Amino acid sequence: MMTGLVLKSTGSWYEVLAEDGNRYQCRVRGKLRIRDTKTTNPVAVGDQVELDPEDTSQAIITDVLPRENYIIRQSVHKKGHAHILASNLDQAVLIVTLSYPRTSLGFIDRFLVSAESFRIPQVLIFNKVDLLNEKEKRKMEHFIEMYEKIGVKCLRTSAKSQEGIEQFRAILAHKKSLIAGHSGVGKSTLINLLSPEIEQKTGEVSDFANKGIHTTTFAEMFQLENETFIIDTPGIKELALVEIPPEELGDYFPEIRVLRGSCKFNNCLHLREPGCAVKQALEDGDINPLRFKSYLSMLDGDED
Ligand code: GDP
Ligand code: ZN
Repeated sequence: MMTGLVLKSTGSWYEVLAEDGNRYQCRVRGKLRIRDTKTTNPVAVGDQVELDPEDTSQAIITDVLPRENYIIRQSVHKKGHAHILASNLDQAVLIVTLSYPRTSLGFIDRFLVSAESFRIPQVLIFNKVDLLNEKEKRKMEHFIEMYEKIGVKCLRTSAKSQEGIEQFRAILAHKKSLIAGHSGVGKSTLINLLSPEIEQKTGEVSDFANKGIHTTTFAEMFQLENETFIIDTPGIKELALVEIPPEELGDYFPEIRVLRGSCKFNNCLHLREPGCAVKQALEDGDINPLRFKSYLSMLDGDED
């Protein structure tokens, strides 16, 4: 018996990196219990599992160790059921650009809220800084100040001039990171700078997904260095598919969460209720209006 890390899943077969350093192709033991009854897959990428090797390349997964966290996507086919996309993540890294193409603040905030709801720390990578003019640079600094204030780590990078690449590598080191971002922000170029070998493989996965055969149902984890793993999943918008009840939404905005209990009404949605501490903080300049705008549009269920 030994333990291992699930790197890849096809739904019936799993690739597991075991503690002996070998990669095993695994099946799941028939009566393996599902840890979370609201989810459909018993084993997910990122899981720590117990293995019963049959030889040096094949094994049976006999148990799944408790998960620290996981991200899910709702099943399109089975209402009320969700699929675990990945588990045990140390951070969710969103790559954004302020132009060529522009990532909207609404999209960034929805990503942060989703990650927060899964209890996963977040990192924002502002890429393509070489393309920004002075005005855009000032805007970026304003956003970075806004996000650092609420505890989100931010990094400025350029795959072209290589600015920030070593910090990017350092931020990923010894962690399991989910890497996301709209198409065109430079995700593949950045990963390629860290590891050309991996980028080729993630490229293959995306191409596969683009043909619509197998869209992002299963993630894959890649080993960057010894203890460093990344999950690069296309179509990460699915992160935001999980529905958050209106009265819970404020809990996933750190600057609103700290005011929990300070409003006059304990079910305050911070709209027009009297004695609202959040509205007061907004007036006092303690909450950024741009963030509050995202909060309101998420309450409304807007998409952009
Ligand atoms: P992905 O869709 O996020 O994987 O984006 P790609 O890595 O394919 O990059 C999209 C385009 O942006 C390519 O033409 C890259 O060469 C370019 N690109 C990526 N990073 C940078 C950067 O930091 N600066 C500049 N000027 N171009 C970049
Ligand atoms: Zn309030």
